[in-house]
Amino acid sequence: MTVLPPTLAQQPAATSVTPPPVSPRLVAAVVRGQRIAIPCFDWCVRDHSKEDLAFLEDLSHEGEEIALAAPEFGGVTEVLVASIRQWPFVNDEDRGLPYLGLDATGEGEAENLQKGAALAFADQLVAHAARIRQLAENMPD
Ligand SMILES: [Zn+2]
Repeated sequence: MTVLPPTLAQQPAATSVTPPPVSPRLVAAVVRGQRIAIPCFDWCVRDHSKEDLAFLEDLSHEGEEIALAAPEFGGVTEVLVASIRQWPFVNDEDRGLPYLGLDATGEGEAENLQKGAALAFADQLVAHAARIRQLAENMPD
């Protein structure tokens, strides 16, 4: 017998049904001049119909890119450039799973972080931001 926490046990049965997973939408892609339908995710901003790929393995999904505008020598440089990416038809050690592409310096050197590693890095950033704030607050006026 399963014992639910009080908050879940008090809910009507209709709300305890888990909805089915959302299927990715089908979009057009072009491989060797042939239009095909591929599953694509809501987070993907790439227009797959605009590129003619040599191989299906060249197809990748890419989310919106974000960056931190950091002050540098009186100007601004973008660092911590990140986006969700996936190469669904590549059969490598990651089995085509989505990952966070991270370019820490903004110079094009990227690291691919799986979800757990990306969350751990985000936690490190939050802690680092708190330390920067603390340094700034402790500066003499
Ligand atoms: Zn896509």
